[in-house]
Amino acid sequence: MQTSRGQSCIDCPRSPSERIITHISLMRLQRTVNALQKRILELKKEKHAIILGHNYQRKEVQEISDFLGDSYGLSVQASKTDAKVIVFCGVDFMAESAKILNPDKTVLHPNPKAKCPMAGMVDAKSLRELKAEHPGAPVVSYVNTSAEVKAETDICCTSANAVKIIQSLPDKKIIFVPDTNLGLYVQRFVKDKELVLWPGYCPTHMNIVKEELVKLKKLHPSAEILVHPECSPDVIDYADHAFSTEGIIRHVVSSPKTEFIIGTEENMIHRLRKEAPGKTYYAVPGATCPNMREITLEDVRDSLEKLQYRIELPKDIIKKAKIPLERMIAAGR
Ligand code: SF4
Repeated sequence: MQTSRGQSCIDCPRSPSERIITHISLMRLQRTVNALQKRILELKKEKHAIILGHNYQRKEVQEISDFLGDSYGLSVQASKTDAKVIVFCGVDFMAESAKILNPDKTVLHPNPKAKCPMAGMVDAKSLRELKAEHPGAPVVSYVNTSAEVKAETDICCTSANAVKIIQSLPDKKIIFVPDTNLGLYVQRFVKDKELVLWPGYCPTHMNIVKEELVKLKKLHPSAEILVHPECSPDVIDYADHAFSTEGIIRHVVSSPKTEFIIGTEENMIHRLRKEAPGKTYYAVPGATCPNMREITLEDVRDSLEKLQYRIELPKDIIKKAKIPLERMIAAGR
């Protein structure tokens, strides 16, 4: 068996007795996981709920999700579900988006500690000040923003459609918040426009550094390097391609290549193994989002049992924030 980091079991430094103990512990752990997953599926039926899970969720949470996807795909699923209850396994802004699109439904976020630090880097007051400095410039907000920031926004985007959305606007000057790296990436394709950027960033994608990619490429020279546009410009320049998470999946599924270095949150590799089994994936050291990992199976079970933690937002914010989100969905990928 080979791990995502290219080690084999033969390289395992444990003694035979340690390996047996580890094996027994893993079997017990798997039994607990299976029991929790079974209970969650029962509760889901009982409460008429669906579970939406982001591509960066833990493997066992991905396994009980009705839909897996990126922010765009999950927003679309949230906008068309008939379920009474939506359990959102992702970070805070994603669950808020589901509530904005479904104000009359119960939207649950299983662990309020799962917050996106990048979304916390811009607030509505600071954005209003920036708007006053650039009168008339429309605001495009990455979907990784709070409901209050969305309420100050003209149109939202995800990494999957940021270029398309900015290209579709007639304006020359556009305010883009909060991810500088995504803004710089988009700017490569819209040379006729001036993007006013915000100094926000994703700490996880900033942990993906070129030196690590160079090392991995030396170890696996046939592997193609795929990174996310939230990575820094030098990482994007060194990679073979930059795609959103769904873009990475589409590319891997259709590519004749069999080895890939994955420059985004490493839990993506579980989804890739499912969608394109038989291929080999190498994670980049440090590409872990601790916020996405906050949600456990126990949290999801408790969330369904107690209908916690409900997302509640002021009506006026929902009304205003819905407009840029619906525009984004209408624009497509
Ligand atoms: S990976 Fe980055 S952008 Fe995504 S939730 Fe984690 S910190 Fe936020």
